Amino acid sequence: IEGYLLQAVRNDDLMLYFQPKVSPMTHKWVGAEALLRWRHPVLGDISNETLIHMAEQNGLIFEVGNFVLRSAIEKAKEWSEYVDDFKMAINVSAVQLKNVQFYEQIVHLLETYHLPARFLELEVTESGLIADEVIAKNTLESLHDLGVTLSLDDFGTGYASFGYLKKFPFDAIKVDKSFIDQMHNSEDDTEIVRSIVQIAKKLDLQVAIEGIENEEQEQFIIQEGCDIGQGYLYGKPMTCHEFEQNLADQNYPNSSRYA
Ligand code: C2E
Ligand code: MG
Ligand code: MG
Repeated sequence: IEGYLLQAVRNDDLMLYFQPKVSPMTHKWVGAEALLRWRHPVLGDISNETLIHMAEQNGLIFEVGNFVLRSAIEKAKEWSEYVDDFKMAINVSAVQLKNVQFYEQIVHLLETYHLPARFLELEVTESGLIADEVIAKNTLESLHDLGVTLSLDDFGTGYASFGYLKKFPFDAIKVDKSFIDQMHNSEDDTEIVRSIVQIAKKLDLQVAIEGIENEEQEQFIIQEGCDIGQGYLYGKPMTCHEFEQNLADQNYPNSSRYA
């Protein structure tokens, strides 16, 4: 698979899908999360977990990560021009974050594509912070000063989620979907989500909840005052073209911008 991955990176066979991030009250698409997709003609679909893990082991994560950053930032520029305050969220791996050049790379890409930093969001998981706390802290502080939104992904599943909020300049958390998944049969999960949201709000953090699949879950996140919902209820990850058509329908119902 490693050999194939190298080929895929070189041949531009990797693709980005985009999933909407939605304001639950209005259903307006306020952003997108860029998600990798790799469909191999022989091997079939390869899961992101496998792909990222392998790429981290063999160093291809830099090429994969570059591809993701470059393509997503280019799209972010385009979409930010006709949707107000549209944010592009990109997942960053532990290995990328502990590279001392990561900050410069982001600055360079924002300049190249003329994208103001406030339209970019980086999603980091705890594993990204454990890898090298000192470098991660410096990098995240510089990115924060630049105006990039920083989001702690899969919140609640790691070892020290709240500790990381204290240590690093996060603007937002994304509550892991395992809690939302279990809410219908576990009062504990409901209370955990409720409490996480309340604490996050007291800390002035934006709250996103991922894995919203039905209206009951949506009602809950509206009641609790969550800022952003993401999940199959609003839209599965989709191709760039599909995403653009939806965006155009929402923002310019009568135009043929992407027809
Ligand atoms: P993540 O960042 O937490 O992304 C959310 C995952 O949940 C995505 O899986 C998405 O397709 C899925 N999802 C979204 N809504 C729903 C829902 O309503 N129900 C269910 N059951 N699932 C939902 P995906 O695309 O397979 O990605 C898995 C993980 O791989 C991501 O988790 C992220 O950690 C990593 N990943 C994806 N793309 C990249 C990338 O470009 N770079 C890096 N470093 N990691 C990436
Ligand atoms: Mg994510
Ligand atoms: Mg997540």
